Amino acid sequence: MKLVLATRNVHKIEELSMMLSDLNVEILSFRDFPDLPEVVEDGETLEDNAIKKAREVSQATGLTALADDTGLEVAALGGAPGVVSARYAGEACSYEDNNRKLLAELEAVPDEERGAAFRCVIAIATPGGEVATAEGRTDGIILRKPRGGEGFGYDPIFLPKGHVRSYAEMLQDEKNAVSHRGRALEAARELIEHMM
Ligand code: IMP
Repeated sequence: MKLVLATRNVHKIEELSMMLSDLNVEILSFRDFPDLPEVVEDGETLEDNAIKKAREVSQATGLTALADDTGLEVAALGGAPGVVSARYAGEACSYEDNNRKLLAELEAVPDEERGAAFRCVIAIATPGGEVATAEGRTDGIILRKPRGGEGFGYDPIFLPKGHVRSYAEMLQDEKNAVSHRGRALEAARELIEHMM
């Protein structure tokens, strides 16, 4: 059985592949389908975007597809950047640009008000048109300076609640065990087994 990951993000592919390695499925990605459609993420919610990506890639490949859409919600910013987390500092911005902008926005915010949560929605779509979603969330705080060189995105400035290491200071399996994506995938596991 084959499952195609509907993302071009190599970090997400690495995380998802590791977490799915115990399932009896062959994990494929854009490396196996270089012509996968570039899905425009114009949905109003994480769920809309995840479903759109999974559907389009499933239709393009004729295989069951799994997509993830993630947002970082910062309490002091009323939940921003949320669904626009990838483009927070503008179109074509880098991870560093986003982190710099977020740290600048929070400069005057005291430690006890720096709460944030990563939310991840995973969607699974079958070529027959079946779609299901699962969600995972990890609470934490936004640090004052980046810490660690692992991971990607906002990892260096996110400290998960109850932990002493930022996401970017954790090894892959450590991050997977506490992360929003790990939790969403845990919740999606049964759906995947049922839909394959
Ligand atoms: P998207 O799900 O690809 O739209 O990601 C939204 C934004 O959140 C991008 O800037 C990603 O880099 C960032 N992001 C997604 N997942 C993670 C994560 O696990 N850690 C840190 N940043 C992430």
